[in-house]
Amino acid sequence: MAAPDPVYAALLADKLAQTQVQQAALTSAIADMRLARSLTVADDEHDPEGSMVSLDQARDAALLERTELTLAELGAAQDRLVAGQYGRCESCGRAVPDERLQARPEARRCVGCT
Ligand SMILES: [Zn+2]
Repeated sequence: MAAPDPVYAALLADKLAQTQVQQAALTSAIADMRLARSLTVADDEHDPEGSMVSLDQARDAALLERTELTLAELGAAQDRLVAGQYGRCESCGRAVPDERLQARPEARRCVGCT
C-alpha cells in the first residue's frame, strides 16, 4: 500500500482548518443573535425586524449543520488516507478522479455514484 499522499493530506488539512474557522464564526453569530433576541422583547409576527432575525438564525443554524457534517466527512477522509483507502469510490470501488478530489477532498464516491 502506498504512503498517504501528501498532496491530499495537505488539501484535507487546509479545508479542515477553513471549515473550523467557519464553524467558530457561525457558532458565535448564532450565540450573538440568541443574546440579542433575549435582550429585546421580539414579536416575530408584528415586528419585521424580528422575523428577519429568525430567518438569519435559521439560515445560520442550517449552515452550521452543514459545516459540522463537512468536518465529520473531512475527518473520515483523513482516516481513509491513513488507512490507504483514500480516493477509492465507496460504491463502485473505482478510483475517484483527481479533479473531483481536488474540488472536494472529502468525497467518498465518484461522480457517477453520487
Ligand atoms: Zn463510483
